[in-house]
Amino acid sequence: MTLDKFAVLLIFELVIGSVDNYKIYQFNTSNRDASLKYIITLPNNQRNTMKTFHSDPGTGIRNQRYRWPRLGNKIVVPFTLDSSADFTKLQIAKIYSAMRHISDRTCIKFKWRSTEIDYLSIYSGKWCMSYVGRIGGKQGLSLERSASCSNHIGTIIHELVHALGFFHMQNHANRDQYVSVINENISDDGVNQFQKIAAWEATNFGTPYDYFSIMHYGMYVFSKNGKPTILTHGGKYNQIIGQNSKLSEGDIKRIRNMYRCNCVEKRGYKMC
Ligand SMILES: [Zn+2]
Repeated sequence: MTLDKFAVLLIFELVIGSVDNYKIYQFNTSNRDASLKYIITLPNNQRNTMKTFHSDPGTGIRNQRYRWPRLGNKIVVPFTLDSSADFTKLQIAKIYSAMRHISDRTCIKFKWRSTEIDYLSIYSGKWCMSYVGRIGGKQGLSLERSASCSNHIGTIIHELVHALGFFHMQNHANRDQYVSVINENISDDGVNQFQKIAAWEATNFGTPYDYFSIMHYGMYVFSKNGKPTILTHGGKYNQIIGQNSKLSEGDIKRIRNMYRCNCVEKRGYKMC
């Protein structure tokens, strides 16, 4: 495996079909030098820490340079809605609902950008697209206006969680302990999407592999022949993976742990 394969920071995905037929049409990755520099320039006094990185692998990016900033008790993610996107009022309402879904369960606060340098610019590109984590400056997050990705709150949540710093669950370095990837059923353009994220690059922040995650693809994703490409061990969770409606309990914990949210649940209410 080359180093290039470790640096997967840009995620494109086009979501077509109905909500119940969530299907990724295309998903490409590109490399960024940042991750490579990170491992090459790591000071010697941190090299021992690298060894521990191999424990608790997962999907949340470890490098803190990709985190959004803290302001008091909140993590602030500034955003704009690109006027050229021409989202409908209903689509804008869904974008806000997706943000609220995350904010109601974590210490993440999405805020309309004023003068912040680093921010999400939500626009209507060709596909659904999000970077993984805060990359710095104006950062595009595409919700294609005519596709279901801008019309379905769950998909918008999914893209926002990428922007917070998470990869897909099936890219977990230890995923083979939980799911089987059926290579002979995967289309040529989907092969790369089943690469594992190295343990040093991402962690699950103390949570187990999560079949329920909104970041887990479904069992037919990138199938070239209508047969499954991901099967869960024992089959119990085959129909569970690929849910596209809400953050799982594990998703919530991972976001809270990544950003050190100090949340307390009292009688069903969250206080962060
Ligand atoms: Zn995704």
